[in-house]
Amino acid sequence: MANSVATSDAPACASSTSALQQTLVAKLDYDQLTNCMRCGFCLPACPTFKETGLEAESPRGRIALMKAAVDGLMEPDARFEEQMNHCLGCRACEPACPADVKYGQLIEQARDAIEDHTAQHRWWVRGVRKIVFKQLFPNQARMKRLGRTIRFYQRSGVQTVVRKLGIVKLFSKQMHAMENILPEASNQGVIDIMGTRIPARGEKIATVGMFRGCLMDTIFTPTNVNTVRLLTEAGFEVVIPTTQNCCGALHAHSGETAGAQDLAKKNIKAFKEAGVDYIISNAGGCGAILVEYDHLLHNDPEYEVDAAWFAERVMDVCDVVFKKGRPLDFKSAAGQDESIRVTYQDSCHLKNVMKGGTSPRQLLKSLPQVDYVELQDAGSCCGSAGIYNLTQPDMANQILEHKMVNVKRTEAHVLLSSNPGCLLQMKLGIEQHHQSEQMRAMHIVDFLMERFEVSRV
Ligand code: SF4
Ligand code: SF4
Repeated sequence: MANSVATSDAPACASSTSALQQTLVAKLDYDQLTNCMRCGFCLPACPTFKETGLEAESPRGRIALMKAAVDGLMEPDARFEEQMNHCLGCRACEPACPADVKYGQLIEQARDAIEDHTAQHRWWVRGVRKIVFKQLFPNQARMKRLGRTIRFYQRSGVQTVVRKLGIVKLFSKQMHAMENILPEASNQGVIDIMGTRIPARGEKIATVGMFRGCLMDTIFTPTNVNTVRLLTEAGFEVVIPTTQNCCGALHAHSGETAGAQDLAKKNIKAFKEAGVDYIISNAGGCGAILVEYDHLLHNDPEYEVDAAWFAERVMDVCDVVFKKGRPLDFKSAAGQDESIRVTYQDSCHLKNVMKGGTSPRQLLKSLPQVDYVELQDAGSCCGSAGIYNLTQPDMANQILEHKMVNVKRTEAHVLLSSNPGCLLQMKLGIEQHHQSEQMRAMHIVDFLMERFEVSRV
């Protein structure tokens, strides 16, 4: 449990310790820190350790650094913060750990503590974070306006002029690369297109609440629409509560725990009022925090029961369709004579936190005229990791380079994923490796709907 240091054997903080050290003592779960028995089983699973070979860039190393800081054996300096920020938060270390160390919780607690102090010193960081975390993501109307602005930029010719004048080159190399592969934004969200209650096709199996997401409903709206269609065809009535909000994942991973908790409370209320049987996500990054709302609010007596109700209902779209839905009649794409080869890059959070890596593969293997080929190290992070590829571009690109070696070996025509961030990162890799003639990246839901028996629609 967080803050258990107060009741554990942790040493008291000396008066000379830094403010950050004291906050780490208050926020880090000392029982979890001591649970790590330093066996090292997690090391081969960790992408940053695999890239660098450095103990400090491994889960065991980071836990040792946290514990040393809490024990007063070292000052948590800039290098300490750097090591915490280098972690992708992919949580591949957790399934590998025989002691069940909750590493994801530890890194969020460490970042929460760091954030409390860096924000005191850098006014401009505070300004940017205030806009992103407090004014943009939690406000769905503003997210919609952002979508419209991006769409105007893409469609009005401004993007062409900006590119011709080389203005995008003024941004960082990474921002420039991402601008190139951004899909066309939508001026409508899934509710504008589908409504808030969409009946099941045929006999209803259950009522599901759809979590529409911020990014998903701004630049991946067609995927949200396809998610509704897939669910209804599989026998689910779909409800999309209008009062739902951002999931809070970016907040939690960036040390904004209080902001994540506020968003969680709004979402719990919205889906509880909707009275749904399951809560469905089509983005691994969102789903992973939704499924952990019970932990996020475990210290809040007013919400802990409802948070547990919410968390136990969260499922990924492929998981609910495969495990609970009616079998669907998939077909070959129109005009397709030969089999096409597809592969799948795991969303780390879907695989490691939601334990949902099997259903997407099973669905793909069930498709006619589709040869599924397993991507080597598909479960290893692609380097996207929320906004990691923008904040840590060097490490993100290094990881992507190694990922693309395996991707090219598959000789797949379609590279699928279950998370918008992974999808963009895969598109980036395909572009950078000049593979776009022979390979495309798609969200798995879009691919499934492309192959659904349209005669039933
Ligand atoms: S979350 Fe990922 S990058 Fe961070 S320590 Fe664990 S395996 Fe390594
Ligand atoms: S596998 Fe678990 S117990 Fe072993 S070093 Fe890694 S975090 Fe510690």
